[in-house]
Amino acid sequence: MATCFWLRSCGARRLGSTFRGCRLHPRAGGLVPAPGPAPGPAQLRGYAGGLAGLSAALLRTDSFVGGRWLPAAATFPVQDPASGAALGMVADCGVSEARAAVRAAYEAFCSWREVSAKERSSLLRKWYNLMIQNKDDLARIITAESGKPLKEAHGEIFYSAFFLEWFSEEARRVYGDIIYTPAKDKRALVLKQPVGVAAVITPWNFPSAMITRKVGAAVAAGCTVVVKPAEDTPFSALALAELASQAGIPPGVYNVIPCSRKNAKEVGEAICTDPLVSKISFTGSTTTGKILLHHAANSVKRVSMELGGLAPFIVFDSANVDQAVAGALASKFRNTGQTCVCSNRFLVQRGIHDAFVKAFAEAMEKNLHVGNGFEEGTTQGPLINEKAVEKVEKHVNDAVSKGATIVTGGKRHHLGKNFFEPTLLSNVTQDMLCTHEETFGPLAPVIKFDTEEEAIAIANATDVGLAGYFYSQDPAQIWRVAEQLEVGMVGINEGLISSVECPFGGVKQSGLGREGSKYGIDEYLELKK
Ligand code: NAP
Repeated sequence: MATCFWLRSCGARRLGSTFRGCRLHPRAGGLVPAPGPAPGPAQLRGYAGGLAGLSAALLRTDSFVGGRWLPAAATFPVQDPASGAALGMVADCGVSEARAAVRAAYEAFCSWREVSAKERSSLLRKWYNLMIQNKDDLARIITAESGKPLKEAHGEIFYSAFFLEWFSEEARRVYGDIIYTPAKDKRALVLKQPVGVAAVITPWNFPSAMITRKVGAAVAAGCTVVVKPAEDTPFSALALAELASQAGIPPGVYNVIPCSRKNAKEVGEAICTDPLVSKISFTGSTTTGKILLHHAANSVKRVSMELGGLAPFIVFDSANVDQAVAGALASKFRNTGQTCVCSNRFLVQRGIHDAFVKAFAEAMEKNLHVGNGFEEGTTQGPLINEKAVEKVEKHVNDAVSKGATIVTGGKRHHLGKNFFEPTLLSNVTQDMLCTHEETFGPLAPVIKFDTEEEAIAIANATDVGLAGYFYSQDPAQIWRVAEQLEVGMVGINEGLISSVECPFGGVKQSGLGREGSKYGIDEYLELKK
């Protein structure tokens, strides 16, 4: 099992630094409903206060194929999850657009693979520079389409851009090997070559970073890509296309085919089964990942799968309570609980349990502010849609019906249909849904345990294994637990574990392969002897 450890040895993080903010104010200005189909960028700007004043070049609604902006026969609406107001109508690509994008990517691959690593590196670096130059506009696009608080959206843009920077550097460090064979006078050479066209399918919760984490590595390796972004968040993917074009990335290297949820299945199948595609790179739910694995199996394609998690967050008796609470806030409530590495289950040892629950509840009350992501001080935006709210509500109701206690929160938030109160439950037991299904929302359920063996058994009693966290000041326990947790990434006295330098990925049904780090580029390279 490949495990990445993040170790924070001592010192409590100050609670205020991650979730600083003031009270919620009513939002100034309002959103205007969409007047009709297929608006241009200029119209689109007018729809949402959050997008007003953005560069028209970045607000794209057409697909981007072979370096050209192409409308589709139909369009689909994209909504602001905070207000439900329409942000704009986007090209709804179908199978024919998908096939055309694959062809464009394949044609571009035939020349892109011949471009020197230094030149690829320099173009990726220009793309990175343009992201940084446009960081404020890009962050506002993320907040408008995903609801994420603006401060977090800024954080995502840096994280996203850093993958382009990182892989611009890695592009020049793809080496082969010389092998001494059994024959005295013969040596074998190993070359690394780009796999070809990659089909890239991404989720809505990190509309920019989930793209660059894949595309940075692919493009650095000499591959070309066809990106299908999530229905809810196509604008970030399209803005990246504009910047790729401005950076001089050749036509066909980066293609984007947005589509509605209604078309996702057939568009996904078209790009994932096309013989011109050599690689499928997916981030999303385990359920969808399994469908795409079937496509890959039928045509024997390489895959990278970044799928769902059910992260345990364990607090041992020896833990520093303040440090554990700060980590719990950061790991649970980032993006309103909608990240794949969000803690899903809190396991707290009996001796520290009451102190931890009390301090966690107080910290939640003090630091979490529900509101529109554009509001100064908001730390908890809306969930992506009402279905997501229904899932959190179902997990809370199920737990309470089986004996859990609501410490704080527990119901929908008065701000609107996509908002839910940050919720802490105690007296949680393993028969409750929230302990074995990914909630993907602002719910922290606490299970009490007695021994280290019991905690590890509970943590590992699942068929997924993406991230895990634990808090302990006992060095021997730290090594034991880190090695026994069945996950791809472990945060030790640390609640935030993602960085471009480190490998990201899971074990069991949380996925296949690793992204970011020095290993990420290998996902897009073949070995040839
Ligand atoms: P999802 O439903 O699997 O959707 C992800 C992407 O797949 C979207 O673009 C979606 O399109 C598309 N899709 C859905 N069904 C498809 C099909 N049959 N064929 C081809 N494409 C299809 O996941 P989600 O609910 O958006 O995202 C949340 C999940 O992603 C969580 O489980 C989370 O843990 C996981 N995630 C994992 C990581 C990681 O790195 N491991 C990172 C972030 C999120 P539509 O949007 O049009 O439905």
